[in-house]
Amino acid sequence: MGRPVTAIEDALAASLAGLDALDLGDEFDPRAADAIVASGLHRLIVPAAAGGLGGRMVDAAEVLMTMGAIDGSSALGFAMQVHAVGALVDSVAVPALLRDRVFRAIVDDGALLNNAATEEGGGSPARGAIPGTQALVEPDGAWRLTGEKTWTTWLPNLTHAFVSARVDGADPVEVGLWLVDLASPGVVRGPGFAAMGMRGSASGRLTLDRVRVPADDLVMRRRLDEPDPRGVAPGAWFGMAIAATYLGVGEGARSDVARWALDRRPGDGATSVAELPSVQVRLGRIDADLRAARIVVFDVARRWDAAIAAKDADGLRTTSHDVALAKLVATQAAVTATDQALRIAGGPGFLSGRLERAFRDARAGLINPPLEDVALAGFARAVLEASA
Ligand SMILES: Cc1cc2nc3c(=O)[nH]c(=O)nc-3n(C[C@H](O)[C@H](O)[C@H](O)COP(=O)(O)OP(=O)(O)OC[C@H]3O[C@@H](n4cnc5c(N)ncnc54)[C@H](O)[C@@H]3O)c2cc1C
Repeated sequence: MGRPVTAIEDALAASLAGLDALDLGDEFDPRAADAIVASGLHRLIVPAAAGGLGGRMVDAAEVLMTMGAIDGSSALGFAMQVHAVGALVDSVAVPALLRDRVFRAIVDDGALLNNAATEEGGGSPARGAIPGTQALVEPDGAWRLTGEKTWTTWLPNLTHAFVSARVDGADPVEVGLWLVDLASPGVVRGPGFAAMGMRGSASGRLTLDRVRVPADDLVMRRRLDEPDPRGVAPGAWFGMAIAATYLGVGEGARSDVARWALDRRPGDGATSVAELPSVQVRLGRIDADLRAARIVVFDVARRWDAAIAAKDADGLRTTSHDVALAKLVATQAAVTATDQALRIAGGPGFLSGRLERAFRDARAGLINPPLEDVALAGFARAVLEASA
């Protein structure tokens, strides 16, 4: 597709140098996002014609895996920008003017975006939770949004959020998605939750009190019983961004524990931990799981990009079913790898540090959609239908 790979590699290298220079840990550090924007990588998925780097899903996977190995929280925050923009680029039925304005805001002003979907009472939107956030239409066609979103990742960094809400008074129930400028009056950003993992991702509470949203910033609106008019792209981009991020966390743990095992010589110093057969079996297991997941993630990303290039709607639908598989094997590999890495590292691994943090960060992947039980039930249905 003529992707400007060198520009992407350069921006990634500059981003990683910026992240490396920070002592990133469990604390949220806004300079991580600054480094990504300063390198231009925040334009990764914006089309080249609009001033972006023109990256595709396969580039997103590579970038997020590499970044996840350095810092899971930064990768998760950036994953949100990647999937939100990817959904705009590949979706059908997104207003073209809105799309262009978002691209301009990213390229000209360094805009950072995410979806604000989850709500306290509703639980996971991936299970079809109806938003409690209300969207009230004004006489001039503008909207007023009121409600509270939880777990909005990178909240302090964001300039905009795609906020889901239900249309006030609509019968039958209608839901929609609005692009909200987070500098608008009525927006309050809460601190990140005191979570087990991904603590540096500043995933927190976004409160909206009668926030005015221009009519043109309505992304989509649908009856609850109708499918999303944007098609399968938003789900595919989200699932793949999550898969790549957590796979990167697992790959980072593999490198860290391998280096540690080579250096560590307990006892009389004659033997490194890396030379122990039991450690090698564990490391081999970590590597096998991660590499298998990497193959699946890249296969799905390549097939998605090929289907987009060929305008192949059936190919997109088929590939979107495999996104759940990619996310499932990637997050499972990350959870297994970070667990095995801690078993290899014993007491030293149990101390606060990169391995211990990766163990906690990887667990968050089990909570992000596509959800494992939903995915497995879907696989089972397909097997049963094919066998009936
Ligand atoms: C680090 C992190 C970052 C996040 N970032 C964002 C973000 O940027 N934007 C955003 O919108 N959201 C974000 N989320 C929210 C996330 O995507 C989930 O939607 C949220 O955690 C709530 O989902 P849940 O399933 O855990 O909770 P609940 O829906 O309350 O479920 C609790 C438990 O019950 C199970 N359960 C619930 N309903 C059913 C059912 N019908 N059948 C079977 N089991 C069920 C769940 O699987 C879970 O185990 C983030 C979450 C994390 C951890």
